[in-house]
Amino acid sequence: MEPIKILVVEDEPITARDLNQSLKSLGYTVSATVDCAEDALEEVSKIQPDLVLMDIILKGTLDGINLANIIRQLYNIPVIFLTAYSDEETLQRAGITEPFGYLLKPFDEREIHSSIQIALRRHQVEQKMRENLEISEALRQEAERLAEVKSRYISMTSHEFRTPMTTIQGSTELLQYYSHRWTDEKKLIHYQRIKDAVKRMTNLLDEVLMIGKAESGKLPFNPQPVNLVIFCQNLAEEQELGNRTDQRIRITLRGYFPEGWRFDENLLRHILTNLLSNAIKYSPNGEDVNFIITGKDNQVVFEIQDRGIGIPAEELDQLFESFERATNVGSIPGTGLGLAIVKKCVDAHGGTISVESIQDVGTTFTVRLPCK
Ligand code: ADP
Repeated sequence: MEPIKILVVEDEPITARDLNQSLKSLGYTVSATVDCAEDALEEVSKIQPDLVLMDIILKGTLDGINLANIIRQLYNIPVIFLTAYSDEETLQRAGITEPFGYLLKPFDEREIHSSIQIALRRHQVEQKMRENLEISEALRQEAERLAEVKSRYISMTSHEFRTPMTTIQGSTELLQYYSHRWTDEKKLIHYQRIKDAVKRMTNLLDEVLMIGKAESGKLPFNPQPVNLVIFCQNLAEEQELGNRTDQRIRITLRGYFPEGWRFDENLLRHILTNLLSNAIKYSPNGEDVNFIITGKDNQVVFEIQDRGIGIPAEELDQLFESFERATNVGSIPGTGLGLAIVKKCVDAHGGTISVESIQDVGTTFTVRLPCK
């Protein structure tokens, strides 16, 4: 067991010497003996004693009571007061500092020992209680946060499901009653609307499941060697095919991409498809998207640049939170979950993501992932 370090604050040299001897013979370590408040504060911060034995009456601007107050608030170290006599007023003032005990002069060794043991034990118990209180406060805050997230999920998902379901209902009813009079082209428009609505609901379900897993810390992370170049080319192609405009994704490769670099393919897919599909979706002017992949010094950097609607500067920071959407999205559909998922997937890789954007000019997302 570590020796118990005690700081003695006593301005009568003979009392200080006697006390020191008693403490040593009881097996305690006297880390320092000082005679004024200023020196005591310096020693407390330097040696961080387990306990302070302190004369109530000290010379100088601060007396023992003021000093005990400071030590309790700044350092949370137990203080036992040393006193020869005690008037009621002094004792009341001392009481406010919640001392861990009083030792009356002249000291009795057994009393010194029991007072110190009681003070240390009480301090330990109080410390434990404080830690428990902190834990329960953190748990309470976490429960509050989860309740808030849950209610946001419910209101957002019910709202986001309603729109495609209304579309499906409208188009199927129209097909049911009027298809015999419609041309094949007109029917196709409604079949396509139904398909789009189902896709939107499936995406939403996937995103909700994914963010649920990520927020509860259950995102599986299985890095495997990935051929980055082929992987990125396939992803870009999929995005172009799934997109009904003729926007292109222009890939630029820089540096080198060793075969052995490992990523979690599923999470990497979430990162890149979300960023690429956003770049296309938020470029209603039909501008192409640049996808620059740079391999260097054990890291890969993905830059996804568009010349779309951009993001208002003051809203950039919050977009990686669930359900956050910028105010300039107009009628472009979305859930506000994609970037939150991207951030979690980047974090799982130990990487970083940043964004630069100018409204009505364009946006660049940069993802840096370490590679081993
Ligand atoms: P959403 O489903 O709304 O697209 P995301 O989480 O993917 O959700 O993105 C959050 C918000 O960030 C979007 O609603 C949009 O306001 C903004 N955003 C993301 N990417 C872009 C981009 N490339 N250009 C402009 N705004 C973007």
